[in-house]
Amino acid sequence: MGADRDLCIGVLALQGDVSEHIRAFDLALAARLGEHTPVVSVRHASAIDGLDALAIPGGESTTISRLIAKNGLRRPLLDFEGGLFATCAGMVLCAETVNDPRMDPLGLIEMRVQRNAFGRQQESFEADLPVEGLASPFHAVFIRAPVADRVGPGAETLAQLEEGAVAVRQARHLALSFHPEIGTDLRLHHLFLDRL
Ligand code: GLN
Repeated sequence: MGADRDLCIGVLALQGDVSEHIRAFDLALAARLGEHTPVVSVRHASAIDGLDALAIPGGESTTISRLIAKNGLRRPLLDFEGGLFATCAGMVLCAETVNDPRMDPLGLIEMRVQRNAFGRQQESFEADLPVEGLASPFHAVFIRAPVADRVGPGAETLAQLEEGAVAVRQARHLALSFHPEIGTDLRLHHLFLDRL
């Protein structure tokens, strides 16, 4: 494990599985530190200042995107210097380009993302996924998941399925197509925290 200093983690709390992200990061920080600063919900720009990292949850990317604009969060997110932990809809929001004209993604991670990339038959599924940096596969839950079908030179693919990349890292940012926040396996949270 990396630096065991206290960290301020926020979760973008506009829509989606916010409480699951808060719980997972609280558990991961408790495992590393015992006493720690509680994870905070972020709805307004003032709450972003001073955070070491921000989770952007799964949910509906078009809705979260609209609420980011409405709450004046686009510029603060573009300027944010901490790490981003983006899952599913969060991964869509962080992309440079998305295969949906309604989306104006933030362009924070060098990747092109396809929404709902697994089609109707496979709207939800689970897979034991080998992930670069983890000693054994991660049991990943995919729910109407995106993939990155192009990953730029500044980013690296940590896990891949036939349809495309499902885990992408760029510096301190981690984008995941699936939902590590809903299980008990927090290895990906630790992988992320190790880099902050
Ligand atoms: N399909 C959703 C979207 O593109 C993401 C689904 C999810 O976050 N579980 O917004």
